[in-house]
Amino acid sequence: MQAVLIHKHGALDQVRIEAVDRPKVQPGQVRVKLQSAALNHLDLWVVAGWPGIHLAYPHILGADGAGLVDEVGPGVDGFEARDRVVINANLSCGTCTYCVAGQDNLCRHWNLLGETVPGTFAEYVVVPAANLLPIPPDISFDYSAAAGLVFHTAWHSLITRGQLRPGESVLIVGASGGVNTASLQIAKLAGARTLVVGSSAGKLALAESLGADVLIDRSQEDWSKAVYLATERRGVDVVVDNVGSGSMSSSLRAVRKGGRILTVGNTGGPIYDMDHRYLFAKHISILGSTMGTRADFAHVMGLVFSGQLQPVIDRSYPLAEARQALARLEAGDQMGKITLAI
Ligand code: ZN
Repeated sequence: MQAVLIHKHGALDQVRIEAVDRPKVQPGQVRVKLQSAALNHLDLWVVAGWPGIHLAYPHILGADGAGLVDEVGPGVDGFEARDRVVINANLSCGTCTYCVAGQDNLCRHWNLLGETVPGTFAEYVVVPAANLLPIPPDISFDYSAAAGLVFHTAWHSLITRGQLRPGESVLIVGASGGVNTASLQIAKLAGARTLVVGSSAGKLALAESLGADVLIDRSQEDWSKAVYLATERRGVDVVVDNVGSGSMSSSLRAVRKGGRILTVGNTGGPIYDMDHRYLFAKHISILGSTMGTRADFAHVMGLVFSGQLQPVIDRSYPLAEARQALARLEAGDQMGKITLAI
């Protein structure tokens, strides 16, 4: 089968499209003939590598995917060949104390497709049957793959971890990325007032089309001050900051006393200085989370399938142009999700 893979870490010129063996199905697993995959920032980080990462090479990239059931392993009930499915990229053991408690995203033996195990930028992938959800007939593979990881992650952060309530105000730092557009939609659905900080008028237009109540262009004004003024000098109840370096000090200023800052990542970089006084003097809670649980996935994908949440798709590339697709993500010019047609 054809797969998008790396033999070593480096820049995007390390990304290759090569033929590899089709993965074999083990008991409890299902082989999916992928029709669509979606890109995430994670893919760029895996290509670049980080201290301590040890992959089996060649390593196939990609966390998000949707397709047709190709072969069902022994002991699998509920799926048969040609079923249309979307993949939950979080692989958990099902038996550790976290898994038993329903916190499978904290599993002691946790893996993520495309990060530590072979991913979805390929013609086939093998996953545990428990990681599949059926796709309704009227929903496309592309739409399902584009929704998966970002809505799962945003739901877990805002609802499960953040306990977002109707009537609260939510500031989202970033207007156009996959998790940010998902967070905006989830905050609206939860009945929150939404403020979005974006880097350009074009990106803010996307946020406006998704129902953002207040738009702040950080190329034109000091955004933490703008938030302060837009909230009658109170600050927002919740900040969604997945930028990290370059934004966290402004997020600390923008959140109200007793408010919370939610984070699932750091597209701006992981290391930053923080004025510690804000943390205790304002009673701020910083809540980190990663991905989501199986229950979150089923719940949020139900809302996607019913149209209450809708992934924003920037552009689709053929699998053979995966490197160009990754370059577009790296440049940061995308409006929503970039997908691969397989
Ligand atoms: Zn576990």
